[in-house]
Amino acid sequence: MRYREHKALGVRTSLLGFGCMRFPTDEQGVILEDAAVAMLHRALEAGVNYIDTAHFYQNSQNEPFVGRALEGVPRENYYLATKLPTWKVDSVADAQAIFALQQERLKSEYFDFYLLHSLDKKRWERMVELGIVEWCEQLQREGKIRRFGFSFHDDYTVFEQILRYRTWDFCQIQLNYLDTQVQAGMRGYRLAEELRVPLIIMEPVKGGALACLPEDLEAGLAAARPEWSSASWALRWVAGLPNVLTVLSGMSSMEQVEDNLATFETLEPLNGEEQTLLEHTADQLRMRRKNGCTGCEYCMPCPAGVDIPEHFRLWNRMDQCRDGALVWKPWNQTVKPEAKADHCIGCGRCEQLCPQHISIPADLARAKADLDAVPRPN
Ligand code: SF4
Ligand code: SF4
Repeated sequence: MRYREHKALGVRTSLLGFGCMRFPTDEQGVILEDAAVAMLHRALEAGVNYIDTAHFYQNSQNEPFVGRALEGVPRENYYLATKLPTWKVDSVADAQAIFALQQERLKSEYFDFYLLHSLDKKRWERMVELGIVEWCEQLQREGKIRRFGFSFHDDYTVFEQILRYRTWDFCQIQLNYLDTQVQAGMRGYRLAEELRVPLIIMEPVKGGALACLPEDLEAGLAAARPEWSSASWALRWVAGLPNVLTVLSGMSSMEQVEDNLATFETLEPLNGEEQTLLEHTADQLRMRRKNGCTGCEYCMPCPAGVDIPEHFRLWNRMDQCRDGALVWKPWNQTVKPEAKADHCIGCGRCEQLCPQHISIPADLARAKADLDAVPRPN
């Protein structure tokens, strides 16, 4: 296992972090505990020492499960990261109650890394207004939070505003070789580097989409390095960035655990030719999008409640990835029926706000028809 040492933070984290949000589940969404325990313990034995959970992962089963799964593992053997669900907090008292529950569920008096979960502009302003940042700082002085940071989902301007607000110990952003200009993106990476804030990376394989590329693109990568999987290429790209503390992979099977461990055991960074090949792959993937939605959410909220960016995110994924389950599952199990395109009233508000000038109502209708036609996976 490769490690990154950060002297100021006093940590030596495994470059591969275990993202706990995708443990395997049964049809009802209940975590398959035997399989999940085996995956987590295999990773720990191989030297993974960063475990990332959150209060609401997997319908709130995740923290209690991780607490049970880690019982008996010496506490000093791993760094435990969890997050305050910022959208559920209306007062310091709410945050205190959630924190106490997290301590109980995870069977730990302290968290090595504690994050304000999924900040965007509105949530950030609310956290500041409620005094949650000062409350977390107090917890840090008391030793209950060892390192304080945030995870982020909004555009670069908001990222810069939050990052410059205070001296953060770390922060967590979404980054992969395809989404270099999405959300914080590489611009955000460079700002964090300049401000000396180390990064935890999420979505390095874009929710699994970069692990099952279209056949021709996969063949192109395999021809250059037959021993590397497509996921391995994506992980190597992110892990090659020096200001990265750990790369979270949300592993959902033992096969993925083994593949990731193999990548990080010998981690060879990409050479110049390999970087060029990956850039070419990214260009090809961008050309196969159905439309140019960047997920910026400027069109939101829709007065009729339609989740516009999620339609386009899944629609664009259809030709970028071979695994139909990565489209079918979120479309049928996560997007609520009332947030689907048939509720659009054609008011035109979204089109006026879209910087990509997308014909949103027309594309929404096409997206819904295509997504409804994706066959249910076996
Ligand atoms: S045109 Fe449709 S999708 Fe766009 S804001 Fe109006 S109701 Fe929502
Ligand atoms: S449809 Fe336009 S405004 Fe809405 S998320 Fe996509 S790019 Fe942004």
